[in-house]
Amino acid sequence: TMKSITEELSSDAYEGRAPGTPGEAKTLALLTAKFEAAGIEPGNGDSWFQDVPLVSIEAKNVSPLTVTGGSENMSFSYGPEMVVTSYQEQPKIDVANSDMVFVGYGVNAPERGWNDYEGVDVKGKTVVILVNDPDFGTESLEGDFGGRAMTYYGRWTYKYEEAARQGAAAALIIHDTDPAAYGWNVVESSWSGPQFYAQSANGGADQTKINGWIQKDVAAKIFAAAGQDLTAQMAAAKKKGFKAVELGLKASSSFENTISKMDSKNVVGILKGKTRPDEYVVYTAHWDHLGRCKPAPDGDDICNGAIDNATGTAALVALAEAHVKAGAPDRSIIFLAVTAEESGLLGSAYYAQNPIYPLNKTVGGVNMDAFGMAGPANNVIVVGKGKSGLDRYLEAALTGDGRVAEAEPTPEKGYYYRSDHFSFAKLGVPMIYFEGG
Ligand SMILES: [Zn+2]
Repeated sequence: TMKSITEELSSDAYEGRAPGTPGEAKTLALLTAKFEAAGIEPGNGDSWFQDVPLVSIEAKNVSPLTVTGGSENMSFSYGPEMVVTSYQEQPKIDVANSDMVFVGYGVNAPERGWNDYEGVDVKGKTVVILVNDPDFGTESLEGDFGGRAMTYYGRWTYKYEEAARQGAAAALIIHDTDPAAYGWNVVESSWSGPQFYAQSANGGADQTKINGWIQKDVAAKIFAAAGQDLTAQMAAAKKKGFKAVELGLKASSSFENTISKMDSKNVVGILKGKTRPDEYVVYTAHWDHLGRCKPAPDGDDICNGAIDNATGTAALVALAEAHVKAGAPDRSIIFLAVTAEESGLLGSAYYAQNPIYPLNKTVGGVNMDAFGMAGPANNVIVVGKGKSGLDRYLEAALTGDGRVAEAEPTPEKGYYYRSDHFSFAKLGVPMIYFEGG
């Protein structure tokens, strides 16, 4: 089952499984047929689906980012030097002559005694933000922000959320390969083309007009034009009591948005429990991948997503088959294949915020995202080890198998915040996410 479904889902016929494409329809048809054949039941009344309302926004005719008011006027090109997008459902985005403020890591964490926005009014301004959190670069796991392990304050999603709460017009994150955990090529490819967001009642009116990234050497030029040194400011931002810096520069950028709304779908099946059917265990895996990408030299533009995440989706089917074969468990089991993970955990967030089965009756869950292909190993890697009591169930299972659970080797990359278990965990459902060793 693992092999045949992984092969099928990652074949070119599925076009990389982007939400809203013919690849989605094919994926949904395959999953429902396999769930049905396995012998589980539709999980949403008599339907296999939960509609997930999405809005797609694509920036077009993006002007260069211009920065004026310093020792020289500068212009940075869309793609190689900067990327911008908007969460606002507005046909035309225009930020002109907006005062630039460097806000360090852009963190407002009263429980940690840290506020990079203290004493500065950024309403209508353009904030410039460092990626990761102030403890990045420490060796130990001790510190205001968990030492080497990234906290949620280090994620770009948080940076834009906080900038919006502070009333900024634009938020630009300085890309830096180590603390970002990926190169500029990833930023450039994933932030161009249509971007999916959850539909909201106000059309994103409470968000910043522009969210974007700038290359690190672009940031260095901007700081120099302001008479500042980027390296020195990066060091200052790590220290408690850092004060935001008005750069004395003005930023401008404009573009047009192509906006369309659509429903994508989560697929949900259930195997009813025999002694406690009103309590639930959930298995999650995202079925989507990146769809069509920048073409390879041979012209192939399909990002097939075999490992990420045809493997986890195949595992959902394999688990459905195995559980049916084993007989009804005590608790009910939910098999949830979610959409739009690659766009920011949108399908799992929608389910967690609009659960078909109550979250306070969902006792725990297992997320599966990208299984390794390296073959048998004597360990498994837990992403976010220690975040839930489920660790001890895993450890017990592995002991019987002669294997061990180990913590992820690179907690500074923040993988714990980058897959669907997080949508449930942030609302209090114990979740575990582990990978092959
Ligand atoms: Zn994935």
